[in-house]
Amino acid sequence: MDNSQQPGESTDRSDLVSEDGKNVKSVICQCCESKVLSPGSAVFAEKELFLPSMRKKNGLSNAEGSVDGDTLTGHWFVDDMFTFENVGFTNNVGSIKYLVCADCEIGPIGWHCLDDKKSFFIALERVKHV
Ligand code: ZN
Repeated sequence: MDNSQQPGESTDRSDLVSEDGKNVKSVICQCCESKVLSPGSAVFAEKELFLPSMRKKNGLSNAEGSVDGDTLTGHWFVDDMFTFENVGFTNNVGSIKYLVCADCEIGPIGWHCLDDKKSFFIALERVKHV
């Protein structure tokens, strides 16, 4: 018997991504449930981005050099920072700013490169959807 089907393991995101690729649900902070994005305001994008492990903002700014974290591939893409309901930014880490919750400052929940003013990414795995 060779059954490679893995029940329970699924990358099906149809409950989060609409047919036109937008977020079906509101995107909120995992910790304090502060609203980050309204439904339909962001587009699903696959891009490999490295995000340091979740911690308070102060720890992020000091995180030069070796950092533990995750390479994440599923993100909500936004081309204008005013699309966000609430979001905070870390100090620059090189040419990168990480996005954090505006209220509790936990993060990073997302990624922004200073070289491209029109791209902001929120990692699906770092937020809740309601
Ligand atoms: Zn929060």
